[in-house]
Amino acid sequence: MRFYGYVLTVLFSSVLFKHAKAQEQPKLVIGIIVDQMRYDYLYRYWNDYGDKGFKRLLEEGFILHDGHYQYAPTYTGPGHASVYTGTNPNVHGIIGNEWYDRKSKSLVNCVGDESANTVGSDSYDGKMSPHRLLSTTLADQIELATNKRSKTIGISIKDRGAILPAGRKPDAAYWYDKSNGRFITSDYYMKDLPEWVKAFNDRKLVDQYMSQTWQTLLPLDRYDESLPDDKPFERAFPNTEKAVFPYDLSKISQLQRFGIKNSPYNLLPATPFGNTLLFDFAKATLESENMGKDDIVDLLAMSFSSTDYAGHQFGNFSVEVQDMYLRLDRELGEFFDYLDQGIGLKNILIFLTADHAAEDVPGLVSPPGDYFRMNGFEAYIRHKLNELTGSDPIESFSNQQIYLIKNDSIDLKEITKIVSTYALLFPGVRSVIALNDFSNCIDDPLICDLVRKGIMPTRSGDLYIQLHPGWINEAYLAGGTTHGSTYAHDTHVPIIFFGGLINASNNYKRAGVQDIAPTISALLKIARPSGSTGMIIEDVLK
Ligand SMILES: [Zn+2]
Repeated sequence: MRFYGYVLTVLFSSVLFKHAKAQEQPKLVIGIIVDQMRYDYLYRYWNDYGDKGFKRLLEEGFILHDGHYQYAPTYTGPGHASVYTGTNPNVHGIIGNEWYDRKSKSLVNCVGDESANTVGSDSYDGKMSPHRLLSTTLADQIELATNKRSKTIGISIKDRGAILPAGRKPDAAYWYDKSNGRFITSDYYMKDLPEWVKAFNDRKLVDQYMSQTWQTLLPLDRYDESLPDDKPFERAFPNTEKAVFPYDLSKISQLQRFGIKNSPYNLLPATPFGNTLLFDFAKATLESENMGKDDIVDLLAMSFSSTDYAGHQFGNFSVEVQDMYLRLDRELGEFFDYLDQGIGLKNILIFLTADHAAEDVPGLVSPPGDYFRMNGFEAYIRHKLNELTGSDPIESFSNQQIYLIKNDSIDLKEITKIVSTYALLFPGVRSVIALNDFSNCIDDPLICDLVRKGIMPTRSGDLYIQLHPGWINEAYLAGGTTHGSTYAHDTHVPIIFFGGLINASNNYKRAGVQDIAPTISALLKIARPSGSTGMIIEDVLK
């Protein structure tokens, strides 16, 4: 009897334990990054959203209304790395999309890797890996916590959008090859594409999507949250005259002028169908890799890039950008339904954020925003230094940072003084921040701190040129907008948690994007990423 009692106790407690564990542990984590999504887009387009996408996230999820990037430059590579490492560029090392490398004396791409080779096509688009990332990511920690029994996969149209979230040791990262419309990877991850990825590519969905006309989802007069469709601040597609609806994509894909031919594969990312393709690929990934089907947690890191391409192309407040969000909202809603039917939303933990936001097109609010003449500035400063010191000590100027030549004959203090004095006379410059001595940073302490968290001494330059609010690179004089600054228009992004473990709530406390990974780690009860400096967002755990 005692024996049977013991067996019963063991059986009962193991059932209890398993039951408790199943409730506490999601089977699947889905991270969603919407490239260039501003926080205000959640409410700006509210009246035109459906009930199942963004509105469902806000009604059933936990929303942080004051979530920010807490470093500059606010670019795609640093953003994706920060979300998944739970820290800032000063620790994870991804200080830009590309930066000047003093060793090779050239610009290096944040995920570029000369030693890697493309898998899945003949192009160079797969010569990529996470070798410059200096911290583990949430994906790595999930792999470590489960002894590699998890499935962790990053997918995106952009290489860096897939590679940086997936981290150093994922099961896979796949991104889009603009030369042929296929999803590819690199031999850092595998020697050959899985059969299911080949089969997905063979469906040639891009040809199908790009043979249609991009019309507005709703009648054009419903887009009164945006400016009229035909505005000079928008950049037209290559070889076209105007950025106006409807876009006959099959025709635009074939246009040719001055020897430059459009290609449907090249154009897809700046249309809403880049997002559609990623949803298709996400479903194929989940089903083919059996994700979310057992008790060992899996991670799918998705990054939607088309919203960023459209922002750069058409600018915020364009009908094109609004239409892309309305379509993304409908597709998100369908995706949530799909997840609920297949895996059950109660078994899934979802977070949604952006890798940076975007500045208003200066023409719309001018003044005080304007275009910073980057090239003119560089020539001016080089000329001034030459005039006053008899030489040009600038090795490179990139990401608003000046890299000075390092040798004994260079008096860094003297040069810093000259640059600081004369840079301020140039339109748009607010301050010059010496990156090796923040005790001398005379700008707003918050701005000094954002710049400090965005740099790494072995990778960054010596002086940072801080602009006034609303000033963007002259490259956008042709239309569209950009991001990268320390200011709220670029740093303020949605941070939303949704799914089984999350109660509907919200708060207005300041949170950092680097807080997402520690919070997810706490919900999963696993170690946080190796470089993580973010804080757990306590309210989300309640
Ligand atoms: Zn981006």
